[in-house]
Amino acid sequence: MKYVSILGSTGSIGTQALSVIEEMSDIKVCAMACGSNIDLFEKQVRKHLPEIACVYDEKQAAVLSENLSALDIKVVSGMDGLIETACFGKTELVLTAVVGMIGIRPTIAAIEAGKDIALANKETLVCAGSIIMPLAREKGVRIIPVDSEHSAIFQSIMGSEDQEIRRIILTASGGPFFGKDFDELESVTLEDALAHPNWSMGKKVTIDSATMVNKGLEVMEAHWLFGVPLNRIQVVVHRESILHSAVEFEDGCIIGQMGPADMRLPIHFAFTYPDRGELSGEPLDLFSIHQLTFDHPDMETFFGLALAFDAALAGGNMPTIFNAANEEAVAAFLRGDISFVQIPEIISAAMMEVDFIDEITLDDIFNTEKKTREFVLDYISVI
Ligand code: MN
Repeated sequence: MKYVSILGSTGSIGTQALSVIEEMSDIKVCAMACGSNIDLFEKQVRKHLPEIACVYDEKQAAVLSENLSALDIKVVSGMDGLIETACFGKTELVLTAVVGMIGIRPTIAAIEAGKDIALANKETLVCAGSIIMPLAREKGVRIIPVDSEHSAIFQSIMGSEDQEIRRIILTASGGPFFGKDFDELESVTLEDALAHPNWSMGKKVTIDSATMVNKGLEVMEAHWLFGVPLNRIQVVVHRESILHSAVEFEDGCIIGQMGPADMRLPIHFAFTYPDRGELSGEPLDLFSIHQLTFDHPDMETFFGLALAFDAALAGGNMPTIFNAANEEAVAAFLRGDISFVQIPEIISAAMMEVDFIDEITLDDIFNTEKKTREFVLDYISVI
């Protein structure tokens, strides 16, 4: 039996992870955490009966504790509770599926406690890759990516871990606005942006996919996870979302991973790694797909992707500025306060205006996040 902690069980990845676990007989959730959605969380807790349950929101945690008083489950809350959930004694593997920079501290705590990480929280490596990766190596902790592209790269490297990688081919669906020019983007609506052609995901990542900022964050993630320099990471638009990414080795051979566009596959693989196990679902029908296409990304129109490369090359706290500015801009877009094309404009302004720090500590990261959010809110209030 493998014991796991799930951080973010009520989100898109969390709910799919639980559905995968329900098909597996050799995995048990011993600790789980959510933000504030206690209606769904209570159902999940009653089904999986973890030993510890965390609700980040303190008031909602008190309500849940009352509701579960007949069960022998410890209910905790806040950042301390999230860290306790991540570091729970029995836990061997922590699925970090919370959204946002809130995932950084519990991930670091789990690594320090020697837990393997199934990584579904992008911000962890984007903002703190320079701290996380050396720490994971020092603690002998495995970081198994859950993001579909990084899982594909991870699987493509298996058995060739010591070989030189010439190029990472990071595939992108292109989102709902592929092929549009800047003028056309100026008039797109929230509904248009939320209509992703291939993947079913949370709102934040769906918008990020439409701006291609998501691919930018994934470039940074791949850089840290696989230790490959940025100039050897190539973004390739692949509309069908069948090839989930690939690796080119020194001899020119390209190894990639294909499969249905279903997040349950990379989630399941993170649980079974280094083995594989059976999973339900429609098999890929190559005859109905007929052909696979590959295109250059349009980094002028979707300049959020170009900004991501700039942020990654600058290093230090610049990826944190990029990420925090994007989070605030997307939240403003979801509220209807700004237009779609203003998202990358705001990121660009924050990257120019917020103070740059080259050598960063964890405190620098969180201070930068705070300053960036303040900057963006001010900026939005006057445009
Ligand atoms: Mn992805």
